[in-house]
Amino acid sequence: MRVAISIGHYPESPGAKSASGKDEHALVAPVAGFLIRYLHEAGVEAHLVPTGRLGAKVDWVNRGSGVAFDLALELHGNADPDEDGHGSPVADGCETLYCTGSVSGERYAESIQSVMARRLGARDRGAKAARFYWLRKTVCPAVIVEPVFIDSAQGEEIISSNPAAVADAISRGVLASIHPGG
Ligand SMILES: [Zn+2]
Repeated sequence: MRVAISIGHYPESPGAKSASGKDEHALVAPVAGFLIRYLHEAGVEAHLVPTGRLGAKVDWVNRGSGVAFDLALELHGNADPDEDGHGSPVADGCETLYCTGSVSGERYAESIQSVMARRLGARDRGAKAARFYWLRKTVCPAVIVEPVFIDSAQGEEIISSNPAAVADAISRGVLASIHPGG
């Protein structure tokens, strides 16, 4: 199995802000390193997608890498904008997104989501269909993994203090998708 691992966003446009004001891209990056290591140790060929704009990342997955990927996995940190401005409580838990209508994407997302939620002891927000560019434009099945809400102090603490545990939970979910019940 060959998996492309992308770190969401890029340094010049780093995504959401964490509870303590850190950038999403920087907070999520260490998870990618552990995830690639754990997948390699389990015999899965995992490649880090070069940092860049989303279109360039998708082109790399589809053509530029020269690798025929089975799964394109992008890591993000979730955020819950306070849209009404009344300081509503920040959401928590983990979720995994797949492309609306993709049967194989849904299968990967369900597997990753259920294992990740159990391993992290996090609220299971479920595997959800979505239409984001990463999900629609990659030729292979794709998922977006959101292990925590980085704008909650608790979520930021989990991903910043133990990125290896987050990566372990995600890698076990990927492995469960190729060895169901194993
Ligand atoms: Zn993001």
